[in-house]
Amino acid sequence: MSNAKHPAEPFKIKMIEPLNITTREQREKALKEAGYNPFLLKSKDVYIDLLTDSGTGAMSDNQWAGLMLGDEAYAGSKNFYNICDAVKDIFEYNYVVPTHQGRGAEQVLFPLLLTPGQYVCSNHHFDTTKAHVELSGAKARNFLIPEATDTGTYYDFKGNFNIPALEAFIEEVGSENVAFFIMTVTNNSAGGQPVSMANMKELKRVADKYGKRIVMDSARFAENAMFIKQREPGYENTSVKDIITEMYSYADMLTMSAKKDAIVNMGGMIAIKNDEEIYRGAQARCVPMEGFATYGGLSGRDMEALARGLYEGIDEDYLAYRLGQIKYLGDKLMEIGVPIQYPTGGHAVFVDARKILPDMPGYEFPAQAICNALYLESGVRPVEIGSFLLGRNPQTGEQEESALELVRLTIPRRVYTQSHMDEIVEGFKEVMAHKDELVGLTFDYEPPVLRHFLARLRPLNK
Ligand SMILES: *Cc1c(COP(=O)(O)O)cnc(C)c1O
Repeated sequence: MSNAKHPAEPFKIKMIEPLNITTREQREKALKEAGYNPFLLKSKDVYIDLLTDSGTGAMSDNQWAGLMLGDEAYAGSKNFYNICDAVKDIFEYNYVVPTHQGRGAEQVLFPLLLTPGQYVCSNHHFDTTKAHVELSGAKARNFLIPEATDTGTYYDFKGNFNIPALEAFIEEVGSENVAFFIMTVTNNSAGGQPVSMANMKELKRVADKYGKRIVMDSARFAENAMFIKQREPGYENTSVKDIITEMYSYADMLTMSAKKDAIVNMGGMIAIKNDEEIYRGAQARCVPMEGFATYGGLSGRDMEALARGLYEGIDEDYLAYRLGQIKYLGDKLMEIGVPIQYPTGGHAVFVDARKILPDMPGYEFPAQAICNALYLESGVRPVEIGSFLLGRNPQTGEQEESALELVRLTIPRRVYTQSHMDEIVEGFKEVMAHKDELVGLTFDYEPPVLRHFLARLRPLNK
């Protein structure tokens, strides 16, 4: 008997999109054609798509209605001011620069905050965040806590910034060589794990001590706030909205991919508490890179959906359902003996592939082998977060072994139901029953950079 309980969806279905059900034979052919790389599968060959939660959410009737109110004025669109009002209300930040997505915010903002050669310190940089730190001439350093990589042990806030390690680093390299701090909420690279309010306060203390700014990387700000409400003593009776306002009082500005917690298919922004000089600088850079400073690459209608999505994303019934759905999937998988990052994070279940295939070396990509096996069994498309993603050492060209070999089951927002979660579990039952037959993979084609998107592979027995 299962104890796992799936929360009832706090919405009902008004419009449907049919799913494609395929046979095993069709999937074998599709996977071979895709070079054994799920990124190269056509979405028509996928049944349940767990590649990412980015831009894959379902908008509400309220958001779709907002699209009809798009004000497509080149300058001063009323939908832009609706975003400004929502940001002022929720985050208490005074200035907004819209961008086409999160990485647009990064490319506009970061060069204003650093001098080339400096370090940028984070609990963990997201990949595009690291790329934009480096493209601006700075060096990205991550400060995870040790609990973050211990997948089997419960810890409330595995996403926390390792503050003692940060302070030791600043003392070692000299404060003048550190540009600013990035707090990522939730910590995507640590498995969507939350950061505690206490940790945000601590970072603020260090920032004030050394005179540094804090940028909140805010893709999953609402999921993080809900975890604080559920887990951090003293916040059980505080509203998520008030928790968010407090979180952002400990930072100076934010970059946001609105494709996550703001539940739009495309959109992002920079928001700034009160630093007018940075705001002017960001507006000036936005014009040539993203678009005029009141649309930043977005249609008026997209900005309206975003303004409304900010409120829908912080609804507590929705967030309890959202985190509960991820936990349900994690609990069900643990029941059938699948090792996962525990507790589950906010947007995905991470399966520990190294524990399933302990004898397969990193360079044979055990997590990718499991992703492919799950696709063949059930038509579910997960994504590898391990040695295949990590790539080679840029200096030596050696294949590096990732600290963790993970299969990420990323759940789009408001898209799949309990039956779909159960289908994923059924697929995993088959994978676990046949795990001893799984073989590793090798390259047929390896692109020189960001290889995981376009690489073609082959099983070692073929
Ligand atoms: C998705 C994401 C980004 C980048 O945003 P895009 O909208 O994909 O450009 C930055 N940081 C984090 C933590 C993210 O999850």
